[in-house]
Amino acid sequence: MSFPPTIPADEYWLRHALHLAERAYQQGEVPVGAVIVLDNKMVGEGWNQPISQHDPTAHAEMLALRAAGLATGNYRLPNTTLYVTLEPCVMCAGALVHARVGRVVFGAYDLKTGAAGSVFNMLLDKRHNHQVQLTGGVLQQLCVEQIQAFFKERRLAQKAAKLNIPNLSEPTNSEI
Ligand SMILES: [Zn+2]
Repeated sequence: MSFPPTIPADEYWLRHALHLAERAYQQGEVPVGAVIVLDNKMVGEGWNQPISQHDPTAHAEMLALRAAGLATGNYRLPNTTLYVTLEPCVMCAGALVHARVGRVVFGAYDLKTGAAGSVFNMLLDKRHNHQVQLTGGVLQQLCVEQIQAFFKERRLAQKAAKLNIPNLSEPTNSEI
């Protein structure tokens, strides 16, 4: 799989990651998708599925890293670029450093737990023996909209579910 020359590579692969994130969305998982590319070819992909896999480590990036390791027959992935729709968390950023991934491109910033500069700066920390090149905010609006739509839908569903059960927090007549 190689990208058409008319579309900037970063946007092309990030669009594929968005597509993968949609699978997570459909499965009721927070929609995050990740792709690992080596020499303009995809060597791994993943989408967030910790709930369905009963696995707290089953983030999109982790699954993409595992797939890329198997595909390349190497536990290290030098010269690869990982594209992900949301800024990586601490766990994934740590794994990216372990894997010696060359570059990370992400879409939406995670201002609460992001580990690629927003909250923690794991990928560029000089105390690690490997630093990962970083580009953030590519197709940012599309990536943000996808995640916001998911959480909005989930809030509405939770609200609807609440309306169908008695509200136990309100005092009953006997307590007044
Ligand atoms: Zn993560």
